Amino acid sequence: MTAIKPRTARVVIYQGDDLAHLSELDDAVTRAEDAVKRATKEALRPRLIHERDPGETARTDLAAAKASRDDFAAEAESRGVAVVMHALQRKAWRALMREHGPRDGEKRDEVLGVNMETLPDVLLPQVICRDEHCPICLDMDQASTIEGDIDSFLESLSDYDYYDRLFLQAFAINRGSAPADPTLRLGSAPSPTSSATSN
Ligand SMILES: [Zn+2]
Repeated sequence: MTAIKPRTARVVIYQGDDLAHLSELDDAVTRAEDAVKRATKEALRPRLIHERDPGETARTDLAAAKASRDDFAAEAESRGVAVVMHALQRKAWRALMREHGPRDGEKRDEVLGVNMETLPDVLLPQVICRDEHCPICLDMDQASTIEGDIDSFLESLSDYDYYDRLFLQAFAINRGSAPADPTLRLGSAPSPTSSATSN
């Protein structure tokens, strides 16, 4: 009998400086993508026979921007901490949702419909896989690289890493409503207006 594998997500917590630099490289990729779009539009108008396709340079620039971003991401990953999470069994998840329902009049609980004060602390240690012999992780050739005990690790995180990157991802794989993004890495810089978890 084969069991269906629980949904899994892997998140890399980068060192602060690396994350900042990665955001810059991400912005550079976005700019290069925009340039390709503009050049593609421009290429539609008639041009002289010896005129270069404006898209060509833009596409080369885009490839270069992506390559430097990916190279740096790989390098920075070795300085960061990888966190692998597996979804809980449905019953266990439901029980948690019941126990940690939203508090009355608490704005930050409204978005996900859970108690944002208590659920993350209970959920994260349960979904983070630290089993060296975990068959799913072995199969996917991945593992958490957290050193020491889990509570100290979680305690050491910024709110952004803790809530936005780990908790939201843990919530997504359990709820199954949002596709868990195995490559989730950068996100965008925390935005004070759109963050569901700020006070
Ligand atoms: Zn595992």
